[in-house]
Amino acid sequence: MIEFIAEERCTSCGKCVEVCPQDVFDLVAGAAPLISRAEDCTTCRQCSLYCPQGAIYVALLTYRRPDLDREKILAEGRTTRYADWLGWSRGQPPRGDRSGLEYQYGLMLAEKRGNAYNVPDPSDRVRSQLFDARERNLI
Ligand code: SF4
Ligand code: SF4
Repeated sequence: MIEFIAEERCTSCGKCVEVCPQDVFDLVAGAAPLISRAEDCTTCRQCSLYCPQGAIYVALLTYRRPDLDREKILAEGRTTRYADWLGWSRGQPPRGDRSGLEYQYGLMLAEKRGNAYNVPDPSDRVRSQLFDARERNLI
């Protein structure tokens, strides 16, 4: 569930409000959005992925923790850990530049299997098209 927005990092860009599928936030002009409907959060983490400031912390729990150590979480970089792991950077998805952890992990798995990394079966047209678009930095 959404735990907090670090107001001191937030630039009021409104991206989290825009991408939240559950309408958890309320936009506030010139300030951090309000977490108005935390109970509707489904922990999808879209808000934390898209936040360019790494200001949002979403925990993998179905309730908010009253004893949360906010400063420790920020100091440990846990607001961006999920995004880092998926290869996102400052609110942007991976650009196929092969520097993300997702790619490195795929490479490691492929090496174990003895496959060429990421090259889909040509009969799988959807995966092939996605692979091609990603290789050309289109997605
Ligand atoms: S985790 Fe998903 S549902 Fe929860 S506040 Fe963020 S975007 Fe909304
Ligand atoms: S996406 Fe991040 S920086 Fe933008 S309004 Fe939301 S918390 Fe603030």
